[in-house]
Parts: sequence; C-alpha cells; structure tokens
Amino acid sequence: MGLIIYFDGKYVPEEEAKVSVFDHGLLYGDGVFEGIRAYNGRVFKLKEHLKRLYESARCIQLNIGLTEEEMEEVVLETLRRNNLRDGYIRLVVTRGRGDLGLDPRKCPKPLVFCIASKIQLYPEELYQKGLEVVTVPTRRNVPEALNPRIKSLNYLNNILAKIEANLAGVPEAIMLNNEGYVAEATGDNVFIVKNGVLITPPPHVGILEGITRNTVMELARKRGIPVEERVFTRLDLFIADECFLTGTAAEIIPVVKVDGRVIGNGEPGEITTALIKDFRELTKVDGPKIYAEDVEEAAL
Ligand code: PMP
Repeated sequence: MGLIIYFDGKYVPEEEAKVSVFDHGLLYGDGVFEGIRAYNGRVFKLKEHLKRLYESARCIQLNIGLTEEEMEEVVLETLRRNNLRDGYIRLVVTRGRGDLGLDPRKCPKPLVFCIASKIQLYPEELYQKGLEVVTVPTRRNVPEALNPRIKSLNYLNNILAKIEANLAGVPEAIMLNNEGYVAEATGDNVFIVKNGVLITPPPHVGILEGITRNTVMELARKRGIPVEERVFTRLDLFIADECFLTGTAAEIIPVVKVDGRVIGNGEPGEITTALIKDFRELTKVDGPKIYAEDVEEAAL
C-alpha cells in the first residue's frame, strides 16, 4: 500500500507528491533535512531534530514558513496518517521553485515535505558481529567551504566516500578532515574507547553534531564513563580498544575492523554493548507520543 505524504501543506498519496524540476533542492541541493525515528509510539528526540533543522535553515537563510510547533504536528500527523508506531521519518525543506539560476531570491516559497515509513533495519547480525570499515581518500568538506554542521541536501561529499567504501567492498567509510583527523562516517558519527575513556571528534573537526552522538555521550556520563571530545587520527582507530558508529538510522553499531586492522579483540566491546543496551531502553520512553490513546493508557 502506498504512503501518505505531507507535501506542501497537504496530506496526499505518494503518487501525488511530486517535486518540480525547477525546485532548487533538486537543481542545486539547496535545502535542509532531518532523519528521525519513531519507537514504541513516540518520536525519539523530536525537539532536538527540529532545533537542528531550524538552525540549519537559518544558516542558509531559508525561512521555513512554519513554526517549530507546527512542524512537530506535521511529523506526528504524518505518522498517524500512515498508522505507524515505529518508523523512519524524513523531513525535507527545499528552497522551492525558482529559475535556472542559483539565486535563492528567485525562489519565493520553500517546499516542505515529510515522509514516514517503516524503517529498513540493518540486519541484527551486524550489531552482534560488528562492521568492517575503511578510511577513504575523500576528505570531509572543510567547514570554511560547506560546514558539515549544516544538515543540507548537499550530500555529494558523503556519497563520494560511500562510493569508495563500495569499491573497497565494505559497508561504511570513515572520512578524515583536511588535516588528517578522523571526522565521521558517511551518515554516522565515530567513537572510540581507549583505556576506559569514550572519545569522539569535537565539532570543530568538521562533523554533523549527531543527536545520537549527544545521546550516547549523555548515557556514557550517566554510567560514570569518562567522555572526551578531542581530535584523534587513523592510528588511534587502529589501536583503539573499541570503536562504534552512531546515527539515527544505524543507532549504535560496533566497528571491529578498520582498513583491515582488527579493533580490540575483534568483537563488539564491553562499553559499546552496554551503551547499546542503555540506548535501546531510552528509545522506548523518550519523545512526544504519536497517539492520544497512548497518553490515556499511561495516565491510568
Ligand atoms: N553524520 C552525518 C553526515 C549524518 O548524515 C548523520 C545522520 N543524520 C549523522 C552524522 C548522525 O546524526 P544523527 O545521530 O543526528 O542521526
């Protein structure tokens, strides 16, 4: 059965959700987006995702035209219209239709659309066994050119890295920044564990400040695990005790091999496994409820 899409102010069947060939999101990657998850009838970290969306839009001088409260309702209603309690939500705001030039002033009205569908889960086996990744020659966009903190529709940098991972025959790539420090994966942040300390690159390296990344740092601190945001190199990956990636779609996924080098003992580490458990618990209880009945149930 087809999906119901929120598209330009209306809820329409997916066949009717069509973007103009003059939309600058398509012509130039001019727009911003979010990937969000719903778990157990709630939208996980919805406020945080909306904040990032609106901040990304401000960075590119894009006036979304809806308030954050209205956008929250768009996300919840799209889930309701598709009868979803668990799923993946893609919220997109493009510059809208313009002429063939790139000047955003020629685009009078942004286009907002929201897709909610069943999540395509990574196979459970990957969480049990861990991923093999490679570092790739494509460097992460330098912040001075296109700041990775902006979650824009321009993902070619990430796609080039993904192509390199594909060519290497592994599921994911880690990009370094222009100075050779570890930045992030194509759609996930990177963590290592060394001597009991959880380490992740700081925002100034040039990364998207992942919401899962922030959640994992909080969960680690709650467990009393020291957390450091500091730069590290490819070499630090090789000699890490543990390594994992974080992202809305992937959640927390262990990494057991980098550039052919086995990480730790080649199995998902102890701290990684503990954080996966904490994260899964949190997903069951965080965020606004999608259905009012759930509220009543909880009140009983
Ligand atoms: N880095 C990049 C480049 C991403 O696209 C994503 C996914 N949105 C992330 C990191 C992880 O961010 P989050 O945890 O907010 O999904």
